[in-house]
Amino acid sequence: NVAGFPYRKTLEDFEFEFQPSVDKRLVEELSTLRFVHNAENVVFLGPPGVGKTHLAIGLGITAAKNRHLTYYISCQDLISELNKAHFENQLQKKLKHYAKYKLLIIDEIGYLPMDIQGANLFFQLIAKRYEKCSTIFTSNKSFSQWGEVFSDNTIAAAILDRILHHATVVNIKGESYRLKDRKEYMSSR
Ligand code: ADP
Ligand code: MG
Repeated sequence: NVAGFPYRKTLEDFEFEFQPSVDKRLVEELSTLRFVHNAENVVFLGPPGVGKTHLAIGLGITAAKNRHLTYYISCQDLISELNKAHFENQLQKKLKHYAKYKLLIIDEIGYLPMDIQGANLFFQLIAKRYEKCSTIFTSNKSFSQWGEVFSDNTIAAAILDRILHHATVVNIKGESYRLKDRKEYMSSR
């Protein structure tokens, strides 16, 4: 898969009835890709299984179809790529590489804690893309917990400041879709 998506699911595959906290019209507005044209960001927040990655990939597929250079990477893989580049004295080249994507999806911020070095590298990437191109972020942690995620309140604040300056935040509350079939099975017995 060219854009690095871990799975291929479209916005049409998303059952909005199952997740009422997701505003269908807001997702439709995002799917016009105005946010990409305006170099704005999107943040999906919520517990596991509520559709954050699905919606991010759905928007990514829409953007790629419309010929915007799009790339998906998990936060953990991104940090290890940046660390590797830094170690090899190739950080500026790597940052330039990521800066060329019109839409970058950074998935799963907060599942694993980051050290200060990782947070610094992440900040440099955000600063490089700021007001130039769009990024979609997903996280299971609320913004107030990002200080812990990045092991440093000051860096976390600087990162959030830039991300949220031009951003749509979608807070998803509700049940995990992954447990849906299991529940139906359990209650049918
Ligand atoms: P997370 O919020 O942890 O990133 P995912 O987006 O990966 O969760 O969703 C978990 C699985 O459930 C995926 O296979 C996804 O396609 C599916 N899924 C989640 N929410 C919905 C939904 N509302 N309609 C259809 N499929 C969904
Ligand atoms: Mg996910």
